[in-house]
Amino acid sequence: MTIAIASPIKLRSQIIDYSIKNGYKAEHFAIAKYCEDHIFRLVINEEEGVVARICTVCDTKHGIGDSDDYFDEVEVVYPVTCSCGHNQFEIMAGVALYRMSGDVRWFYLGYECSACGLSGVYGDWKNEFIGYTNLLKRV
Ligand SMILES: [Zn+2]
Ligand SMILES: [Zn+2]
Repeated sequence: MTIAIASPIKLRSQIIDYSIKNGYKAEHFAIAKYCEDHIFRLVINEEEGVVARICTVCDTKHGIGDSDDYFDEVEVVYPVTCSCGHNQFEIMAGVALYRMSGDVRWFYLGYECSACGLSGVYGDWKNEFIGYTNLLKRV
């Protein structure tokens, strides 16, 4: 299997394009990293606005952004699979802020399949959070 090379610039511009159409432009971004690695499986419930990444090295599950605060209330999360059948991704989060503020208004989840390179925005939702740097530290 060939592992596609990460292209954070491509992923970032896809999140920006998507977010402009959505009306809340993403301006700050973070790439998920763990165990010196950046390939994860994903489970998500977009309706509830929760997503977790699972490290492919050590299997640690980590709620992205403020997801850990809400996971207990969510009944079901769905594993993410690429249309190629692969289920390991690189992940980039982007956030839009309130005007003249450091507070988060909207959250975007970007992903790139590590097998076929397909990438884009997998989900987005309203995500009010005080202080975007603290949210992006939890990606
Ligand atoms: Zn790990
Ligand atoms: Zn794929």
